Amino acid sequence: MTDSDDVVVVGGGNAALCAALSASESKKKILVLERAPEEEAGGNSRFTAGLFRVAYNGVEDLKKVMPDLSAEEIARSDFGTYTEEQFLDDMARVTEYRCDPDLTEQLVKNSLSTVAWMRSKGVRFTAAWGRQAFNIGGKFKFWGGLTVEAVGGGPGLVDSLTQIAKKNDIEIRYGTRAVSLVTDDSGVKGVVVRQQGKTKTIHARAVVLAAGGFQANPEMRARYLGPGWELAKVRGTRFNTGDVIRMALDIGAAATGNWSGCHAVAWERNAPEFGDLAVGDQFQKHSYPWGVYLNAEGRRFVDEGADFRNYTYAKYGRVILAQPGQFAWQIFDAKVKAQLRDEYRIKQVTKVSAGSLEELVAKLDDVDKDQALKELRAYNAAVRQDIPFNPNIKDGRCTAGLVINKSNWANTLDTPPFEAYAVTCGITFTFGGLKINSRAEVISTDGVPISGLYAAGELVGGIFYFNYPGGTGLTNGAVFGRIAGTSAAG
Ligand SMILES: Cc1cc2nc3c(=O)[nH]c(=O)nc-3n(C[C@H](O)[C@H](O)[C@H](O)COP(=O)(O)OP(=O)(O)OC[C@H]3O[C@@H](n4cnc5c(N)ncnc54)[C@H](O)[C@@H]3O)c2cc1C
Repeated sequence: MTDSDDVVVVGGGNAALCAALSASESKKKILVLERAPEEEAGGNSRFTAGLFRVAYNGVEDLKKVMPDLSAEEIARSDFGTYTEEQFLDDMARVTEYRCDPDLTEQLVKNSLSTVAWMRSKGVRFTAAWGRQAFNIGGKFKFWGGLTVEAVGGGPGLVDSLTQIAKKNDIEIRYGTRAVSLVTDDSGVKGVVVRQQGKTKTIHARAVVLAAGGFQANPEMRARYLGPGWELAKVRGTRFNTGDVIRMALDIGAAATGNWSGCHAVAWERNAPEFGDLAVGDQFQKHSYPWGVYLNAEGRRFVDEGADFRNYTYAKYGRVILAQPGQFAWQIFDAKVKAQLRDEYRIKQVTKVSAGSLEELVAKLDDVDKDQALKELRAYNAAVRQDIPFNPNIKDGRCTAGLVINKSNWANTLDTPPFEAYAVTCGITFTFGGLKINSRAEVISTDGVPISGLYAAGELVGGIFYFNYPGGTGLTNGAVFGRIAGTSAAG
């Protein structure tokens, strides 16, 4: 037995580091336990683009988070607004009205102030001009409620939080895996860890769990998400294997939320089994609203234009996983080439191009070529040419009469060169997890808080179901990480 800390935080990502920073505002000895070695530390947070969804009523609110916005940058941007009501509506709609109302309200109402708090600690943010805005007549118009990103993306965010933590005398112990919780009748008293092959007990007044979901554990994926999920690729860290969720359940924490649900996207078909920090999130392929999908049978299988990307991308990975062979091709023509996101321009893509649709389908590996050509021709014939194309709004330019229609942005595939990109399902994070209350206390199966135990981030259940509004994961980790740290130190 060694050590005694005021607050021990398990995990080394955004939620954990925010918890450690807020705990350090009122307590002296804060210890962060990170399972990964230092060079791979930072969890999924490090793999992100660093996008944070925050509610704001205009540029004055955004300046609380981005005080460095220049007059020229403001003049060339139309930030619009993204009100708390819109954020709440988005959460309710995409989760099919299942998200926990109290936690969701807390998430939304604290979104701006929490990111401003991070800024006050020294984390820098910028506007997501490159990702979330279209240039219309020389002005960048933001859309989809996603305006703020950390400078340097996920790696910048984690580096910055880590440096700030160290400056605040928070100790981060790398290569240290939490394996169980120390408890007695009065609550949680510490954590048992494995470090360099040795088991140690670390005592603490309070423990904050922020160690991610179970997406990097194929056995748990198959068990909870269902058959076939062991075959998905993992977009992020290999260290989020659900052990910390399990160790809380073992001492009587309640499980809650969408245990068979997860965030999963279209991901490069030949990507490695886990995320690659050198490529980050660039294996994703999110421009499908401008094209069409085909599966191995040469058929379309989803409405590519059902909504803005932000509101469909997180659920379409599951749809791809359900296709024969767990893959699909995204097909575009030259008209939309300039609109394709940066991730289409990396060299690690499985891509074919051709001067005609006939030639293109002949190059699509593992696809029924005759059916594919028929499908593309039928799609072209079904496009409502009378409705103008407008990428900035849900334009209603749809197809008519197909088994699966495309609801918006339906352009005919008629301008060579044609391009196709092969994708599979990349899982981001799991939705089921631990039950917490509004103080981020972990709730037991008896329905009462477990004394001394707090949780935040990906391993908390009850917030996301079925789907997820882009950029909410980091905000969720920051808001509840901050609350968990304050409660644990209180
Ligand atoms: C490619 C990609 C892009 C994304 N882009 C965005 C985006 O732009 N915006 C957004 O909001 N969300 C994004 N997300 C989702 C986002 O990453 C997560 O919602 C968020 O980072 C979760 O933060 P967290 O702190 O809860 O978990 P993590 O950041 O995953 O941290 C978990 C930590 O726990 C550690 N750990 C695990 N087990 C143990 C153990 N037994 N003992 C000790 N430590 C342990 C891990 O090593 C890790 O450091 C993206 C995810 C991926 C994979």
